[in-house]
Amino acid sequence: MTTHNVTLIPGDGIGPEVTEATRRVLDACGVAFAWDEQPAGMEAAETHGDVLPEGTLASVRRNGVGLKGPITTPIGGGFRSVNVGLRHALGLYANLRPGRTMVGVQSTFEEIDLVVVRENMEDLYAGVEFDAGTPEARDVIGFVNARSGKPISDEAALTIKMITPEGSRRIVRYAFEYARANGRRQVTAVHKANIMKFTDGLFLRVAQEVAAEYPEIAFNDRIVDNMCMQLMQKPQDYDVLVMPNLYGDILSDLVAGMVGGLGVAPSGNIGAETAVFEPIHGSAPSHAGKNEANPTAMILSGALMLRHLGEREAAERVEAAVAAVVAEGERVTYDLRADRDPAKAAGTSGMADAIIARMAG
Ligand code: NAD
Repeated sequence: MTTHNVTLIPGDGIGPEVTEATRRVLDACGVAFAWDEQPAGMEAAETHGDVLPEGTLASVRRNGVGLKGPITTPIGGGFRSVNVGLRHALGLYANLRPGRTMVGVQSTFEEIDLVVVRENMEDLYAGVEFDAGTPEARDVIGFVNARSGKPISDEAALTIKMITPEGSRRIVRYAFEYARANGRRQVTAVHKANIMKFTDGLFLRVAQEVAAEYPEIAFNDRIVDNMCMQLMQKPQDYDVLVMPNLYGDILSDLVAGMVGGLGVAPSGNIGAETAVFEPIHGSAPSHAGKNEANPTAMILSGALMLRHLGEREAAERVEAAVAAVVAEGERVTYDLRADRDPAKAAGTSGMADAIIARMAG
């Protein structure tokens, strides 16, 4: 059996508890792991003077894959954001956000099984901005006005939207590779190419080219506003959705909301050489140290990691065990219980025990 070396980053708040629950579930799923535990977050700031120590980054680079708990972002204090730091240092260009309804999790929609693939480095998020009234903004405005028939006001603030062929190709290719590896039937490119003919037009054209390389997977495209309406009206028509950064930011939360929200939403950040998986929720400090936080999102992030490692059967085992325990609604954390009664609820570790027992049985 192959042993997978994985960097394990427990993080802050409820992070260490949900990470420990996840590590135990993954150790019981029939795949061998060598865990390389590394600090990031508030504790790392105290011990290493940095929320994201170089040694932690080096470990993810060495192992190629990391599993990360949530990190408290200090307010003020000048620390860089761990999530932005990781994304940039490791070139994690794809943000993978599956959204699947589960029996036992309250949600407005039923039978949703969507995957949002968001481009993570380009678009309006590249950080190229000019504040209103600055000499730099006026320079850029002067330059643009000399070349464009549609003058920009001298008083405008600017954020540059950039979309490259390479960036578009690798994100769309990632979406198709994910679809192929995970038996998905269709990829939809989401864009606003009718208005942004050059940037989103480029994204769409590249998506069409890449789609031609995957004839066994259906391809279509939707304009982003229409996509939102379609998700509300006929979400079952969709499968894997791939899109530039801003639309991905919005649609991934829309889909998370459709399937029951934070406690059950996993994610992955994938680059050419490395990938880091994490729940989308934060460090929930009010629940920290009480063995009451819901470990589902982190365990499902672990299952996503298994898929990334080519361990699809093990991923399905974990997902099926989580689904069964959540559907039963007994040995789950209080937030997943219909009565929300903490006295009858399982703790974080008790829920992990129930999932492990389900995989064994
Ligand atoms: P949060 O996700 O921590 O909490 C929002 C709400 O959901 C709270 O009521 C919380 O108690 C509840 N909650 C979240 N996860 C839960 C779980 N697993 N089980 C039970 N309840 C859960 O968001 P926040 O309060 O806005 O942020 C807290 C801290 O986390 C901040 O410092 C923020 O910057 C950070 N954060 C980190 C990440 C990350 O590392 N990826 C993501 C979001 C927020």
